[in-house]
Amino acid sequence: MNIVEIILKKRHRETLTREEIRYAVLGYVDGRVADYQMSALLMAIVFNGMTDAEIAELTAAMIESGETVDLHGIQGIKVDKHSTGGVGDKTSLVLGPMVAACGAKVAKMSGRGLGHTGGTLDKLESIPGMRIVLTDEEFVNQVNRFGLAIMGQSKNLVPADKLMYALRDVTGTVDSIPLIASSIMSKKIATGADAILLDVKYGSGAFFKTPEDSKRLAETMIAIGKNLGRDTRALLTNMNQPLGRAIGNILEVKEAIATLRGQGPTDLVELCVEAGSEMLLQAHVVTSKEDARQRLLHSIQDGSAFEKLVSMVQQQGGDASFIRHPENFPVARFHHELRATTAGYIHHIDALTLGEGAMLLGAGRAKKDDVIDYTAGILVHHKIGDRVQPGELLMDVYTNKEAIDGVLNDLLKAVQIQPTVVAQPPLIHSVVR
Ligand code: URA
Repeated sequence: MNIVEIILKKRHRETLTREEIRYAVLGYVDGRVADYQMSALLMAIVFNGMTDAEIAELTAAMIESGETVDLHGIQGIKVDKHSTGGVGDKTSLVLGPMVAACGAKVAKMSGRGLGHTGGTLDKLESIPGMRIVLTDEEFVNQVNRFGLAIMGQSKNLVPADKLMYALRDVTGTVDSIPLIASSIMSKKIATGADAILLDVKYGSGAFFKTPEDSKRLAETMIAIGKNLGRDTRALLTNMNQPLGRAIGNILEVKEAIATLRGQGPTDLVELCVEAGSEMLLQAHVVTSKEDARQRLLHSIQDGSAFEKLVSMVQQQGGDASFIRHPENFPVARFHHELRATTAGYIHHIDALTLGEGAMLLGAGRAKKDDVIDYTAGILVHHKIGDRVQPGELLMDVYTNKEAIDGVLNDLLKAVQIQPTVVAQPPLIHSVVR
């Protein structure tokens, strides 16, 4: 087999065979295929696309390039949820405990935040003592006993994705549906889930700006799941404004705790109930969505979801007194208030600017090795459609940094207030199965 012929075939819009795709991917990982050759192939894929069968083969070859997690020791259907990345997205911290409290098995592998998006592992590590590195045995035992564990990836999972993603980043080949879909699904499948619920975001804080593009990505990932034997479904959700009110690690953990105590923002609750009901259906815990909704809401009312979070934190070495008494979390040294200067209705809140702003305050990483300040972040007090008066509080800003006037200016500019009434945009566009 010859890599140049494979590149030419894709350049001429022909369909690649399983063997050709494996040769390119596994050859790239073991050094037989050079960076410039993989770059050329990736660019040909960006321009000419791939069939669903080719994308499934690409995903399978990427999984084959590394280790996989064996979750066979867990009894029952393992459900996992993946978000394509958002601002203020603390869904996993609320949804995991709710779904586990309803009887499903949630064995979740999460990642860290980079750029304007946060990561579940960073949020978990803002809880003192919390361990996100578990052995396979600890992980399996915890899920069997409590129904819930969230950990980082310690194995060498999908090395092909690490190499290809780094190359895509510097060759203008990131935003391609076959490449994004295979990248995400290879990691999800390698971590052993039987059923996957995808939260595919669209809007200013997301990869794709429109629901139509996000739907194409969702359909492609669902087709991969079908081809590789995983029940995969997707919600298309709006990321034109942050989810909930909190952005930044401790602030988001506190919001997750409040939500599990029945005092959460309505958009976060809506997303957790909608996503959770799909997951309970996928786990065969319920047979109707209505039953799932009732059970999920009940898990908040009776405190069982909150207790699941407490158990998970305790099992993973965290100090659960912070979950019971979130007022004990440390607070940043500086607090700024951003207030409205005009009266009117909020037309736009730029999620991307808020995500980047939170990162600059210390809550996120611009580069992989940056150190996070868990106390830094933003509380957003209004949503699109709200009416505000001059002087009304729009955001609380928390940081340990001193020279942040530029960030404060950008945050204020990210909120557009106009005199005309505007409707609240729906959070959930649709469910794709
Ligand atoms: N997230 C991923 O994991 N991979 C992509 O290609 C894009 C987003």
